[in-house]
Amino acid sequence: MTILFKSKHVPMLLSNPPSKTQTRRSWKRPKVRVSRTYWLSTTMITRDGRFGKALVKRGWWEMLGEISTSDAVDEGYGSQAAYIAAFAEISKKKEEAVAIEKVYCLDLEMVAVVAGKKWCGSCGRQYAKAAEVSSCDGCGRAFFAVDTSHLKEVEV
Ligand SMILES: [Zn+2]
Repeated sequence: MTILFKSKHVPMLLSNPPSKTQTRRSWKRPKVRVSRTYWLSTTMITRDGRFGKALVKRGWWEMLGEISTSDAVDEGYGSQAAYIAAFAEISKKKEEAVAIEKVYCLDLEMVAVVAGKKWCGSCGRQYAKAAEVSSCDGCGRAFFAVDTSHLKEVEV
């Protein structure tokens, strides 16, 4: 089991301290177990999208619209409304529809980062660690890499 994320969430998960430690999923049943570690990736197709490993610290069911303000912050957003809007956009559904969706919530703790890679601090686009990047191909901004020095490196 690999937990998928949008590229824009990669810097939030990998930074120190992380600005995102929770995720909510439209699952019918839990696909991960508490106290186990899982690969995090931006694609299911290949291993290339893997960016790290995380420990699932807690899992629980909740109505998406009932997210607390502090959990919305742990999701990496400023408010409940901002989080619900982002979830609706990612899942291509209406906000009213996602608000009443029962979702599986995860508390994550990053335990490792993939070796030999670096990620744009703005958009999360992945590069080889040795690549010389001045402006990011993904977002066009001046490139700076997410500082992942607090995480141990792991081979994919
Ligand atoms: Zn970028």
